[in-house]
Amino acid sequence: MRMTVLASGSKGNATVIASAETRVLVDAGLSCRELLKRMALVDEDASALDAILITHEHTDHVAGLSVLARRLRIPVYFSEPTHRAWVRQMTPRTTMTYAKWLEHVQKEKEARAAMDAVETAESADPELCEQSGTIQIAAASPEADAEEEEDAPEAAFRRDPASLPVVEYFQPGISFSIGDLAITPFTTPHDAADPCGFVFESASESIRMAIATDLGYVPPNVKRALERIDVLLLESNHDLEMLKDGPYPWAVKQRVLSRVGHLSNHATAEFLSRDYDGNATYIVLGHLSETNNAPELALLSAEEAIRERGRLLGNRVLLAQQAAPIAPICI
Ligand SMILES: [Zn+2]
Ligand SMILES: [Zn+2]
Repeated sequence: MRMTVLASGSKGNATVIASAETRVLVDAGLSCRELLKRMALVDEDASALDAILITHEHTDHVAGLSVLARRLRIPVYFSEPTHRAWVRQMTPRTTMTYAKWLEHVQKEKEARAAMDAVETAESADPELCEQSGTIQIAAASPEADAEEEEDAPEAAFRRDPASLPVVEYFQPGISFSIGDLAITPFTTPHDAADPCGFVFESASESIRMAIATDLGYVPPNVKRALERIDVLLLESNHDLEMLKDGPYPWAVKQRVLSRVGHLSNHATAEFLSRDYDGNATYIVLGHLSETNNAPELALLSAEEAIRERGRLLGNRVLLAQQAAPIAPICI
């Protein structure tokens, strides 16, 4: 199994999880072009992605979602409340009543049915994603204009920025599968519609990987979800002193510090020293604040917590980065 953190932090999050047969992208918080560029940098084949999974609707997790999903024509997995919040976010000028929401779901079904009739095999090309900030979908592809009937679904996509090739719903707490990958979403305490983390398990390899970022504290359900994990991407967002002394307005500081904000280095260390079972070969610290944290502080804090527990010396602690992908972690 393989975990490749393409980006982690408040300016964008995206991670590839791959098993023998399946490859998924968790969050698409950078532009489509940047996501494809970073995948190419670490030899991840974007055209081999089977799906995109979304943890929650904050921009740093969905910025490139619609363009990438349409470009690759792959399904997007959300919880229903997250999908709804995302659609609302993509169409800010419309009031999304429940009736309107149902209408949107219906329209999307129709557009999808129309899309099924269209030839879908196209390779990913970063140049076709965005040009000068404008979304270019199939208009940039010569085949799409070749036949009249192919124009209709693409035009429908362009009319509705929240339209996606295929939407699948999951429910936090209930496992589902994509190919040979078993996925268990778990609820996280964070100020979004229905935020979650994920545990991935490859049946053939009995390896488990987990992503747990964007959470205000570590509640019992998250502690349970993070048992027996081999590779753990865990938030270590801020240093408490740096946040308190830092430039953020008071209200934002309160939000970050709250039970639905982000995990501090201290809270992460507390989890590692008290609750963590020591199973992971790799712990990747992620979603570090560029303003209120320093990589060496986060690393030191986590390593100290692990060092307190002698038997965990086999754990390697790595740092995910905002500006560049880190080398794929294969296990
Ligand atoms: Zn985030
Ligand atoms: Zn968030």
